[in-house]
Amino acid sequence: MLEPQALLEPLELDALYITRPENVRYLTGFPHPEDAQVLLTPEGAFLLTDPRYPEAERESQIPAKVLRREEREALFQDLRGRVGFEAEHLPYAALERLRELSPVEWVPTKGVIERLRLKKTPEEVARIRKAQALAEKALERALSLLKPGVEEREVALEIEFFLRKAGAEGVAFPPIVASGVRGALPHAGASEKRLEAGELVTLDLGAKVAGYHSDMTRTVALGKPPLEMRRVHQAVLSALEVALENLRPGRTGKEVDALAREELKRHGLDRYFVHSLGHGVGLAVHEGPSLSPYTEEVLEPGMVVTVEPGVYLPGVGGVRIEELVLLTEDGIELLSRFPRGYMEV
Ligand code: ZN
Ligand code: ZN
Repeated sequence: MLEPQALLEPLELDALYITRPENVRYLTGFPHPEDAQVLLTPEGAFLLTDPRYPEAERESQIPAKVLRREEREALFQDLRGRVGFEAEHLPYAALERLRELSPVEWVPTKGVIERLRLKKTPEEVARIRKAQALAEKALERALSLLKPGVEEREVALEIEFFLRKAGAEGVAFPPIVASGVRGALPHAGASEKRLEAGELVTLDLGAKVAGYHSDMTRTVALGKPPLEMRRVHQAVLSALEVALENLRPGRTGKEVDALAREELKRHGLDRYFVHSLGHGVGLAVHEGPSLSPYTEEVLEPGMVVTVEPGVYLPGVGGVRIEELVLLTEDGIELLSRFPRGYMEV
């Protein structure tokens, strides 16, 4: 599947040193990518790790070298020519160390492996689907816990516990449970605040399965919320519908983002939509392509993205609804199946 020469040649590189864990996992399937790297050379690709992982050869889809420190240093000393590194990931101190070890020309690269990760194979989609299915069960469980007096933190912990118990590798990110005024914080986390009747509660959660993530948000009402917040929910929902109707291969993320913003503008709420419409999901929770005003990337079949308009009214509250979507040949398939309509619990 991996042809090192096809990657190295256009970059005029003699080798490429890959350190970003998601990229290492993508190229190797190795389940401990934080403690491993990949070296691509014209002769082939190798996983590099250390003696803490004696089973690396079996766990990696490409040949693995389990190296002691001296052996690793010797390997780098033998490199020649121009060797690429991942400028967005390799720490400066690590680069200095490499320069001391090896007299090659170290060349910064960006997004080489990330570009390969944009379009998912059916196997990758299957893992994302599984992560999403687990997250939906966890959301169901979380909604059953929403009662006045319950702490946001308790709900978030229950989501984590549920997902681990259900067989997920872990949560995709610490779940967000944001109630009432805290709903105005897009990345609210979960606090000790207790839920109160009449509040909206935003729950944003995902699971991790075999390295792959899911990501979904619902905002529900605990009892009867003020009419104003009910209207905000309606506006966000309709921005989401407009985006989903217009999402298809050939469109740019920028165009779809603009349509969602326009819909919120009709409701006078566009200036409270303070983040991008969506992002790619895969081995990282946030990866390409981006659905935002700042990117021109054209959407293609096989990409998996979120669509997540939100409105955040400072000091009042907020609403975000997020779907997880697979781009197909002629449109989209929703990977998130949880009802997204207005709901009172
Ligand atoms: Zn999310
Ligand atoms: Zn998201």
